[in-house]
Amino acid sequence: MVEVRLLGSGSGVLAGRRSQSMVLVRDDGGRGLLIDAGQPLQRRLYEEAVDPRVIDAVIITHIHADHIMGLPGLLFEIDALGATESPLIFLGERSLLTAKPMLEAFKPRRLALRVESVPDGRIHNFEAAGFRVETFPVRHSLPTFGVRVFDRRGRCILFYSSDTVYLEHLKDLAECEVGIHEATIPEGMASEAEERGFHSTPSQALEVLEKSRYKVLYHISEYSFRDGYPEGEYMVSFDGLSLRL
Ligand SMILES: [Zn+2]
Repeated sequence: MVEVRLLGSGSGVLAGRRSQSMVLVRDDGGRGLLIDAGQPLQRRLYEEAVDPRVIDAVIITHIHADHIMGLPGLLFEIDALGATESPLIFLGERSLLTAKPMLEAFKPRRLALRVESVPDGRIHNFEAAGFRVETFPVRHSLPTFGVRVFDRRGRCILFYSSDTVYLEHLKDLAECEVGIHEATIPEGMASEAEERGFHSTPSQALEVLEKSRYKVLYHISEYSFRDGYPEGEYMVSFDGLSLRL
């Protein structure tokens, strides 16, 4: 069994009580893969009774603050709990150039930082926390990738869009058990997606998630549903939503 748990569900600007982007994927053995590390990561781990030391790998899809600023706190947390090295942190090639000095500056002195780069602009496969992971480029205001996670049987457990404009070709990649797609801007702003920070509307998200078994709208802002809710069967994410597969 694999669990996909949304530690956060909101966007970069405060949306009510929602925390920022962070999705935890865990297998039976309890090893954890964290996708994105928004804020307040430490408090959300505590609230969900997740020991921070189970996080074996962290994938940062892009270096906007709402996807990475929870990471320094996590490093301090595991250092205080006796860890000597960080989880393996995956970042895009260009993101890494900016983020590595920041992480080096913020990390606890004794903790060894383990980082690995993910090639920008193409599909890439690797192992993380016991899962096969695939990253694929999406289109946001800076280099960003989406993530797919597969279980030991090769089943696609999770499709995660990260932050992106609507991309029709993602439909096939979203043929997974859980499909998580951002839905930051309201329907009426579809034509201004680029000016509005390269995001998608709820309907666009659902179009991409057509083939996903469980469709989850994510990265919710205070105005995501200003123009109404689309028709169809889907979930609007909330902090703590857990799916067991
Ligand atoms: Zn974001």
